[in-house]
Amino acid sequence: MKIEELIQDLDPVTIIEFKDYIIEHLSDLCSTKNSNSKIIYNFKTEKKVCEKCGSKLYKNGKTKNGVQKYVCSCCKHTLSETTDTITCHSKLPFEVWKNIIDNLLNGFSIRRIAEENNISVLTSFRIRHKILYALKKFIDNITLSGEIQSDEKYFSINLKGTKLENMPRYSKKRTSTKSPYRGISHHKICVVSSIDEFDNLLLKIVGLGRCTTKMLKDSLGKKLNNAKSINADSASAYQEFCIENSLILNAIPSGFHSDGIYNISEINGIHSQLETWLKKFRRVSTRHLQEYLNWFVYIFTMKKRFMLNKIKTESYSNIIINDNYIKANAIFSVQMLIDLNIAYAEYINQS
Ligand SMILES: [Zn+2]
Repeated sequence: MKIEELIQDLDPVTIIEFKDYIIEHLSDLCSTKNSNSKIIYNFKTEKKVCEKCGSKLYKNGKTKNGVQKYVCSCCKHTLSETTDTITCHSKLPFEVWKNIIDNLLNGFSIRRIAEENNISVLTSFRIRHKILYALKKFIDNITLSGEIQSDEKYFSINLKGTKLENMPRYSKKRTSTKSPYRGISHHKICVVSSIDEFDNLLLKIVGLGRCTTKMLKDSLGKKLNNAKSINADSASAYQEFCIENSLILNAIPSGFHSDGIYNISEINGIHSQLETWLKKFRRVSTRHLQEYLNWFVYIFTMKKRFMLNKIKTESYSNIIINDNYIKANAIFSVQMLIDLNIAYAEYINQS
């Protein structure tokens, strides 16, 4: 129900009383145990059908916290309003989820989020990664059209948080944690970054070492939608890629940001914004790097698309209402997007 409809028949005195009541009790009203399920119930537009057999679902009472339950008319499968959403199994009310989403949009660290919301560091870690996982769906829907600027950014490998048994086995002790290779080598993670004339942004881990045509195909190639041209540095990977995709290549000489008319200064500007932003998190683990890149793209995109005050409400609905459930232990098994055996080939089984 629209708020306008709800209050249009009230007299001004009641409206003011109503307003005062809301202000006084706002926090309590948003902290009830079924606050998340109420939002999902009101805003989720899809019809309820059983995921197991496709039959219609019927309301089937409520849990002790007031969350609506459903039962399948055919196979008797039961579920609740929050099943498959990010708040499934979460005891935290909307008030806290809302705060954490606000904190994330402001780039707060795990520790700071824990302090601000009076939750444990582990809960803070889990929720942050659950939300970052939810943003992936949003990112997956972004496509690039028209004129595109493209470049690569290289990151060092960081194995923070990787279990010992999943680490490549070294045959000898390394004296330094620094890569013995200077510049771009198979010790560097390549991220393809592209932006189109409508501010749609792509930041994607594509593999190890210098960018190849195949890496472009697997990343940018899957995102093209009526694209016309690409401004890129003269890296040969783009030549074949552009021919295959019937794109005009405006090659910028290596080491320059522009070639008179054409430039890659916008994407280079984004690289420096990204660097500054990532510094806040102190050494991001390679396992979670793509999530951080998605997080950056999400904030960038929302700022371009919406007024600042709309970003928060849009984000609540993107994250809370859609089906974004990931099990807590699945966070720890997020797939490594690079092959460590290639990265450390020369250290493995050398003896
Ligand atoms: Zn069923």
